[in-house]
Amino acid sequence: MENIVVSDILRQKEFRFNKALGQNFIFDSNLLDAIVADSGVTGFDTVVEIGTGAGTLTARLAERAGKVFSFEVDERLKEVLDLTLRGRENVEVVFRDVMKMSDAEFRAVIGEGSFKVVANLPYYITTPLIMRFIESGLAPDSLTVMVQKEVADRLRARCGTADYSAVTLAVEMFGDATVTRTVDRHMFRPAPNVDSAVVRIDRVPERVAEGEVKAVKRAVRAAFAMRRKTLANNLSSAYGIPKAEASEIVASCGFSADVRGERLTLDDFIRLSRALPR
Ligand code: SAM
Repeated sequence: MENIVVSDILRQKEFRFNKALGQNFIFDSNLLDAIVADSGVTGFDTVVEIGTGAGTLTARLAERAGKVFSFEVDERLKEVLDLTLRGRENVEVVFRDVMKMSDAEFRAVIGEGSFKVVANLPYYITTPLIMRFIESGLAPDSLTVMVQKEVADRLRARCGTADYSAVTLAVEMFGDATVTRTVDRHMFRPAPNVDSAVVRIDRVPERVAEGEVKAVKRAVRAAFAMRRKTLANNLSSAYGIPKAEASEIVASCGFSADVRGERLTLDDFIRLSRALPR
């Protein structure tokens, strides 16, 4: 269905965009095609979309993918989607909040096979939604997501920069992140106050050995708890160990005494976690 028709349908149904739900829709065909191309989805893939909106991206995904499960929280969109996605046999719209579903409930909907996430994410919960997928046992093959530009910068920040954070390391533990394109705010209706970017994250299995994941995450959380504190101070508070012991551990890993967490790479954190109490 042409996207001009989709906007007519929204108008006919007197749909009012809900800012609190992060409703910034895309109608531009070139951009929709570009997002689908960036995701690398093929007819063998099952796609999970978060936030169906008026179904513009859903329809494009359905043309390429084997099956699309699209999750939406706003039930006012049901009547709109009945029209805009009519006849799309391989699309299932699920009116549920994935943030409130357990892994088992999610799997009961989409089945046990592999899947890829593709979404123009609602701005108010971009990072929690990404974390929902990369930190769970769900292990999608990849996530291709539209996020605010500053979130994109954080997801793939370089070690030692102001954007480098616990989120950057969580993404790196999961896989490889690339920004595939930046997107001007005027490509959305209504236009948000910030520009956006499409980020693709490809899962790299066993980047951190399964038995070590918990300990590495704990060390990362501790190191970034107070950004201005030294690593040794942060470790001392988080692990409940004397400062002298924390300093010894830091030195034993070959880091300088006043190093801060933002200077450590993922490999450094793996090494550090092995030296810390479990
Ligand atoms: N995919 C559409 C597009 O590109 O035009 C809509 C994208 S819009 C940025 C985000 C959509 O996510 C909105 O329709 C909003 O209602 C929905 N949404 C917000 N929170 C959600 C949640 N927790 N789970 C699923 N959908 C959600």
